[in-house]
Amino acid sequence: MIIIMLGAQGTGKGTVAGLISEQMGWPQISTGDIFRKNISEKTALGIEASKYTEKGELVPDEITVPMVEDRLNWEDAQEGAILDGFPRTIEQAEKLDEMLKRNNKKVDLVINLVTPKEEIIDRMLTRRVCSNQECKATYNIKLHPPVKEGICDKCGAPLKQRADDSDPEAIKKRLEIYEEKTCPLVEYYKNKGVIRTEEVSVAVNRMGKDVAEDIVKEIKNK
Ligand code: ADP
Ligand code: ZN
Repeated sequence: MIIIMLGAQGTGKGTVAGLISEQMGWPQISTGDIFRKNISEKTALGIEASKYTEKGELVPDEITVPMVEDRLNWEDAQEGAILDGFPRTIEQAEKLDEMLKRNNKKVDLVINLVTPKEEIIDRMLTRRVCSNQECKATYNIKLHPPVKEGICDKCGAPLKQRADDSDPEAIKKRLEIYEEKTCPLVEYYKNKGVIRTEEVSVAVNRMGKDVAEDIVKEIKNK
């Protein structure tokens, strides 16, 4: 089963993807995480990608698409996978459809997370990630803080703020790109009849973990 996470920055895509991944035993494939890992390890791909990620711009498809295709071919992704951060444009969605088709697969479910704008920027500023590249757990110092301040519950490594989350210009740029390039994907997947929109917000008292729980229950009941 191929699941895609859609939604603006700060809606909790990573949280929902991580929980479904844990429960189903399918990998969470986060393009942002793969880029950050390569950047910290200073691989050729990382050095190239950082030119874009630093500014909050999209990394070109020539780099991103083969990277995703390769990851989807791993053994651990054959039963299911949750894509988090890809596709982000109509072109990427079309390329994904093509690569899945070659393997007799398709996009089965698109989880579209919606959060009021006022909450979004606040959430990006209060987001923290585990500095351990093998763990990458995400927290929010207001909404779901770690038990011990600044320390990851899962592995004990220090938490940090992502470079692009502390830069207001990069945040603005990412939200603009989301509106312009990624939003049209909602319509794209609506037409395919695979989208499921979920409001995640303090206002309606529904959080990422509630969404993940419901979805896992439904998948397991099928
Ligand atoms: P966010 O969604 O909060 O901006 P991500 O972790 O998903 O963060 O992505 C971080 C950065 O990695 C993006 O700003 C972009 O530069 C790059 N990136 C991630 N996914 C893609 C993608 N599918 N296509 C192009 N660039 C991407
Ligand atoms: Zn950790």
